Amino acid sequence: MLKLYNTLSRKLESFKPIDKNEVLIYACGPTVYHYAHIGNLRSYVFEDILKRTLLYNCYKVKHVINITDVGHLTSDADTGEDKMEKEAKLEKKSVWDIAVFYTNAFKLDFKKLNLLEPSVWCKATDNIKEQVELIKELEKKGYTYITNDGVYFDTSKLKDYGRLAKLKKSGLKAGARVKVGEKRLPTDFALWKFSPKDDKRQMEWDSPWNGKGFPGWHIECSAMAIKYLGKRIDIHCGGIDHVPVHHTNEIAQSEAYLGKKWVNYWLHGDFLVINKEKMAKSGNNFLTLSELEKKGYSPMDFRYFCLTGHYHTQLNFSFEELDAARNAHKKLKSRVIEFRKGEESLPKSVELYKKEFLKSINDDLNMPKALAVVWEMVKDEAVPKKDRYDALLQFDSVLGLKLEEAKEERLEVSNEVKQLLEHREAARKDKDFKKADELRVKIRDKGYLIEDSAEGIKLKKL
Ligand code: AMP
Ligand code: ZN
Repeated sequence: MLKLYNTLSRKLESFKPIDKNEVLIYACGPTVYHYAHIGNLRSYVFEDILKRTLLYNCYKVKHVINITDVGHLTSDADTGEDKMEKEAKLEKKSVWDIAVFYTNAFKLDFKKLNLLEPSVWCKATDNIKEQVELIKELEKKGYTYITNDGVYFDTSKLKDYGRLAKLKKSGLKAGARVKVGEKRLPTDFALWKFSPKDDKRQMEWDSPWNGKGFPGWHIECSAMAIKYLGKRIDIHCGGIDHVPVHHTNEIAQSEAYLGKKWVNYWLHGDFLVINKEKMAKSGNNFLTLSELEKKGYSPMDFRYFCLTGHYHTQLNFSFEELDAARNAHKKLKSRVIEFRKGEESLPKSVELYKKEFLKSINDDLNMPKALAVVWEMVKDEAVPKKDRYDALLQFDSVLGLKLEEAKEERLEVSNEVKQLLEHREAARKDKDFKKADELRVKIRDKGYLIEDSAEGIKLKKL
């Protein structure tokens, strides 16, 4: 039985889908004003593991990821600039071009990390009509009010506003340091913002309110989730920073609109940090997947690194840790190559490991535990290699490390080493083993290890 930690209850819960035939997942996608950093990507790896675990448990999955290409402001308190428009000015490009460019960059990273394509990619600017309709309905039901800069959601109308984040309303009023403007409560949030009078926006749409404007970030996700997945969702996920504002507000407006509970399980991935500091697009600790690649790490090395931490805890990034992940990943691939050729018959069954693997992933996607099971099995010489190979490929449908593609790495050796090897072969043929051994030492000094086997000699980099 799959168990997941539900932020809503703060408990590990048994997973029961609404429809036993298909699980519905909505995952908040990127705001495409910049390259995704490896912290953002950690969140998508976690969501991919979630999806793969559901598939491993034989569920069908409908998975929606949105692209936020408008309305995400620099401040969560509905002030500041639209991140997209700000970047467009900075790069002196049209905001539409910025959106296309960074969406494509994101999708490239997505592919490189072997993340399963969602059933639906949708973008906010393609769904303005749906967002306006949702706001009109909220207005009709009396949940909104208008200020000089937008249409706001009135959080005082909901008894349980903030239950996801366990926000205390009184505390918020007293302790809030946010700039309230004409908002009645600091927790009230913009559904629709009016275009500023003194600044021409590139992205703006006609609306029933005060001429042109643009949607708030939260309404986008509610409108698209409802459009593509219907009125009930099994799982909604995203990074942990979405709990207090974005997801709290998504719940408020969606449940006010639908008049009932909307999402059963809220799952949140914790941060990737460097020296205890969250990696952020605005920070100076920003690293991208391409930067890792330039330093010689493969996207799969980074994916392996992500698997070493539980999604529900912070993962500290350092190049030492990434090196360790790369080495482990390399070792795993070399065992895959070895097992692929194995045909011996041995008594021990692999079934116990399969059970343990399933138990680990079903324990709230415990990937560090699942990796430990993988390694225990890999090292168990009593299990036939062929069975270990088959089990590894089965496990890889969740790990997503492309283990099936593992192939022998061709070693590039210098002419000098090639010559030493030839001399050693000649010495061996002449049965001059003393000389052959001396040459082996010389080759070792050049950084290579010789392994003599029935199929011939093998050279390994030390
Ligand atoms: P954004 O593009 O800023 O909207 O973020 C995309 C996703 O990345 C969201 O689900 C965020 O919660 C998540 N995220 C942002 N920073 C980090 C981080 N340092 N570690 C893990 N996830 C993050
Ligand atoms: Zn969202």
